[in-house]
Amino acid sequence: MRLLIVGPQGAGKGTQAELLAEAVGVPHISTGDIFRNLNASTETGRQAKHYMETGALVPDELTQQLLADRLAEPDTSPGFLLDGFPRNTPQAQWLATLLQGREQAIDFVILLSAPDDVLIDRMAARGRADDTTEAIGRRLAIYHEETKPLIGFYGDLVRHVDGVGTVDEVHRRVVDAIAGAGRTPAPHG
Ligand code: AMP
Repeated sequence: MRLLIVGPQGAGKGTQAELLAEAVGVPHISTGDIFRNLNASTETGRQAKHYMETGALVPDELTQQLLADRLAEPDTSPGFLLDGFPRNTPQAQWLATLLQGREQAIDFVILLSAPDDVLIDRMAARGRADDTTEAIGRRLAIYHEETKPLIGFYGDLVRHVDGVGTVDEVHRRVVDAIAGAGRTPAPHG
């Protein structure tokens, strides 16, 4: 099974991605984790760190190059769960082309959402080094402007999941969403 999980920061995307990947038995591939694990003393590592700290997206080309390397590893042949990719339409188009070349397709796109005020409270509470007020605001704006249009790009593959609740509650919703058929209504704008 090939899955994407999309959502704003603070929606619990990373936690839910880990649980879902484990439940489905596919590798959890987070582009944010790939960037965080880069050696900060290399040029690539320095670049990524700079973009992440300001809340901007890392340039598509660099992101895609790192992801292509990861997707070339043999553990992805039964499937994968991408967490945090694609973040915009050009990345989605790039992924579609890459998968076409492998004669593969995405099965479902989980869209995890929560109201902006809940997201802002959660991000402020987690206190990560790259979570300055400016960076939080910028990431949320990018999400609304660049990432949300992916809902249209993926159409019927999208499963809307309400990210408000306990980790277990939301996990159950995510599992139900990919088990059930048909589109689901968006709980939050
Ligand atoms: P995340 O862990 O998904 O919240 O990502 C943390 C940061 O890594 C983001 O704020 C971006 O700077 C960068 N990042 C992660 N995924 C992508 C992506 N697909 N495209 C561009 N930048 C990304």
